[in-house]
Amino acid sequence: MLQPMHEGITDYLEIMQLAGMSEVKKDGRRQMADGSGGVSAERSSPTVRSTAPLPTALQVPATPPPSAAVCRLPSAVSYPDGKAGQLLQLADEVAGCSRCKDLAESRTQTVFGVGNPDSPLVFLGEAPGADEDKKGEPFVGRAGQLLTDIIVKGMKLRREDVYICNILRCRPPGNRNPMPDEAAHCRPFLDRTLEIIKPGFICCLGAVAAKNLLATEQTIGALRGKVWDYNGIKVVCTYHPAYLLRNPAAKKDTWDDIQILMQEMGMK
Ligand code: URA
Repeated sequence: MLQPMHEGITDYLEIMQLAGMSEVKKDGRRQMADGSGGVSAERSSPTVRSTAPLPTALQVPATPPPSAAVCRLPSAVSYPDGKAGQLLQLADEVAGCSRCKDLAESRTQTVFGVGNPDSPLVFLGEAPGADEDKKGEPFVGRAGQLLTDIIVKGMKLRREDVYICNILRCRPPGNRNPMPDEAAHCRPFLDRTLEIIKPGFICCLGAVAAKNLLATEQTIGALRGKVWDYNGIKVVCTYHPAYLLRNPAAKKDTWDDIQILMQEMGMK
């Protein structure tokens, strides 16, 4: 039976094993299952691998220990139950994403999504800008303030009642439009977000969101003012709030689109 003083060591080794460590080196550095050592410094400083058997207490158990009371299994990251937990787990996955090498290198952080996971309505934007990249939350800059006004003053909802996310979860440098391959890389994250939330309605904000979601080349002018279908979800497209800031005259069209959305949602 392992004594309590061994528990910490055993837990540590189990955690390292789960993380991919296959053996312990004499100098104490980790050996990842892929042989990388986990750090690039490894290359410049070769290490001596111990061939001697490890003392019993240090051996990584091949099978789970018989008594959880004596040697607890390490608790992997645990997420709350339900949609919120599933979104948190997905957000963690997104945070580690490097499918778009340039974006992963230039981002401050990923910007996953925010709001009520049980909301029937998802607002879908294009990609984080500088403010969002800094804060880690979508639509927090000037365009975000206008979106909040649409939600609060126009729809009489609270921002936290709806869910807000983007086609891309990383900021494209200089706020350029997302490249097709970037949108494709990020698409599974969007689809999984929608699978978790299961909204009845999506409001696409701007051409990039609308064209990507609906896989169409139609202009936003042609897409707005109607109700579309995406996998059984009703989709209303309107102008991007940033466009409305530059072209205030188009706010009337967006207000018309929001009326269509509210009508479809049974809000009026
Ligand atoms: N524009 C977007 O499309 N998304 C944001 O999150 C912010 C600005």
